Amino acid sequence: MFITDDHMHLYRYKRLEALKEFKRAGGTHVLLVNLPSRYYDIFPAEGKSFKHVFDSHIRLVEEANTVVRAYAVLGVHPAEITIIGEKLGYEAAAEIMKDALEIAGKYVEEGRAVAIKSGRPHYTVSGEVWELSNEVMFHAFEIAKDVDCAVQLHTESFSRKGIEEIAEMAKKAGIKLHRVVKHFAPPAIDVFEEVGIFPSVIAMGDNVLKASIAGDRFTVETDYIDDPNRPGAVLGPKTVPKKMKELLKKGFDEDFVMKICKDNVEKVYGIEL
Ligand SMILES: [Zn+2]
Repeated sequence: MFITDDHMHLYRYKRLEALKEFKRAGGTHVLLVNLPSRYYDIFPAEGKSFKHVFDSHIRLVEEANTVVRAYAVLGVHPAEITIIGEKLGYEAAAEIMKDALEIAGKYVEEGRAVAIKSGRPHYTVSGEVWELSNEVMFHAFEIAKDVDCAVQLHTESFSRKGIEEIAEMAKKAGIKLHRVVKHFAPPAIDVFEEVGIFPSVIAMGDNVLKASIAGDRFTVETDYIDDPNRPGAVLGPKTVPKKMKELLKKGFDEDFVMKICKDNVEKVYGIEL
């Protein structure tokens, strides 16, 4: 059986030990996403600064592959607009983020990563910063369309209006909607199915069970950060395997788990697990 965590980080708490826990619990595949630039002790004064982030992340993913099958997702966290913008101005920040996403796209083309990550702030920002963030996200859609890859999105809290707006932008950029993944999604499977954006459900509480009752068009994630200051946040590395085993106990069959953890992942990311 395949058990995939669609969005996890490794930092400096358990590192590969976290993946060993995931594996012991039954986990087989993981998409590892790089953290914001501050976790790599750099200030990204230009797009190229992100090469350091991406290169160290790719090295980490290579190590991770000694434990489970791991894939790299390269992203520019939407909060970078505030971090960079406070020092260099918001327009410059947006340009740096777009340049960095282009580098991420090149890495995907070279087969070193499977997807890129973008989005827009989850906290309140000025109208100007919101506009610029939307431009950055739109550019991520264009890049992903060109290199034919998926985009994971970190966005504001879920609302139907919000994802409809994002879907409109994605359509304008020409990217297929099932390649646009809402990371940290609630189990609103029907809404996502109607709008077209693909949900990566955060495995909190009974989200996975609720999602499974609603349908089978979703993936599952922990958003584990591996930060010694926040051990176990957002959810521990064993969570997805545990939730999948709970589904089996509740009467869902192995084919259902394979749909969530294999077929959906293969379809969204265009990869063969
Ligand atoms: Zn994350």
